[in-house]
Amino acid sequence: MTGKELQKELTWKFPHIAKAAPKQMEEAAAFCEGYKAFLDNGKTERECVKIATEMLEKAGYTRFCASGQYRQGDKVYYVNREKSLIATTFGERPIREGVRINGAHIDSPRLDLKPNPMYEKDEIALFKTHYYGGVRKYQWATIPLAMHGVVVKKNGEVVELNLGEDPKDPVFCITDLLPHLSAEQNERKLKDGIKGEELNIVIGSIPYEDDEEIKEPIKLMALKLLNDRYGITERELLQAEIEFVPAQKARDVGLDRSMVGAYGQDDRVCAYTALMAEIDTKQPVYTTVTILTDKEEIGSQGNTGLDSNYVGDYIRYLAELEGADPKEVFYNSICLSSDVNAAFDPTFSQAYDPRNSCYINKGCVLTKYTGARGKSGASDASAELMAKVIAMMDQEGVYWQIGELGAVDVGGGGTIAKFVASMNIDVVDLGVPILSMHSPFELASKLDVLSAYLAFKAFYKN
Ligand code: MN
Ligand code: MN
Repeated sequence: MTGKELQKELTWKFPHIAKAAPKQMEEAAAFCEGYKAFLDNGKTERECVKIATEMLEKAGYTRFCASGQYRQGDKVYYVNREKSLIATTFGERPIREGVRINGAHIDSPRLDLKPNPMYEKDEIALFKTHYYGGVRKYQWATIPLAMHGVVVKKNGEVVELNLGEDPKDPVFCITDLLPHLSAEQNERKLKDGIKGEELNIVIGSIPYEDDEEIKEPIKLMALKLLNDRYGITERELLQAEIEFVPAQKARDVGLDRSMVGAYGQDDRVCAYTALMAEIDTKQPVYTTVTILTDKEEIGSQGNTGLDSNYVGDYIRYLAELEGADPKEVFYNSICLSSDVNAAFDPTFSQAYDPRNSCYINKGCVLTKYTGARGKSGASDASAELMAKVIAMMDQEGVYWQIGELGAVDVGGGGTIAKFVASMNIDVVDLGVPILSMHSPFELASKLDVLSAYLAFKAFYKN
């Protein structure tokens, strides 16, 4: 045997999909049109639940009923407090033999308003914010921001806010110093380039005019305009949930339009592909449990996150439908913790181990473990599970790769995997490589987005 032949037989390199399967480029571009629309219409967890519900109902899903009678192929969904959602297609095998779970998260890093947000300083009206999730604060200044949220008024009326997305809407902005005056700020460490208490959003500059002198007339004007539009007062703001997110739309990136650039692709890229795979699965072998969850970016705590019992309770309901022991269902189930990973970035290559990183255009990325330092906080998937999931993808010709989140000891991160594992369910992370993750404009390859969808379909098929 020649060295070349032996090399072909023994070594392995993940191919660039555009070289290995150029036909997928057209399919990926078409698939990502729907994906971009999902990103533009779902910039908060609540909005994602709303769109997902519409998509599911259009596809024939009905609200799950714990005392219902379901047959193979029936499709149901369940909503937890308007912020997380589970969809199911009943499978051929009894639930006792386990369910196939695919969990992605629909919350993304953003700027929440503080409970008492509005103030006037030096004749400018501003909002105080408290960032949500891991943000590099300097990235959030001097970009157009949109306001999204929900206010429950004193009379119980629920008002939904959405301002800054329509091209005719005004937008909002956090200021930064000009280079001419930033000599002192330039000496700060990058993490303090913009500090948490400097993430103040400019919302107005015109005073409320009155013959009598009033205190804080610019704040009053801003409040009046908010009241004109939404009928809310400062007191009602205190009890609201208001989130500021980048105002720009999802765009094609690159001369070849090979990438999608958008806010919130972590993890709506997995949420959208998981949802589409769920909808397109008609007669699965095992019952599917597609989860779009909240609160992942702050550690999954809270009753709409994976560290609550809501997913376990749902699976218990499924078990009860056929009198199965939930413990047996958990033990026999498999879960994909579908979340993004850090794509190798040639500009910042020192943060990665090039042999163990994922790359854009090489397919969805299987991440055996996440965590930090010595795998702390990880759910390390077993060799058996890795083999099983890879076999499912290979059988359907899905392009996949492996990757760790950056080089050892550079940082780290976690996903919902450990919370799924704590229910005694086999779980592994699978997702899409992302450049500039957690920034206001993240990049993903269209071919990888398609690969995730195909992987999720393969997972439900087998
Ligand atoms: Mn994520
Ligand atoms: Mn994240």
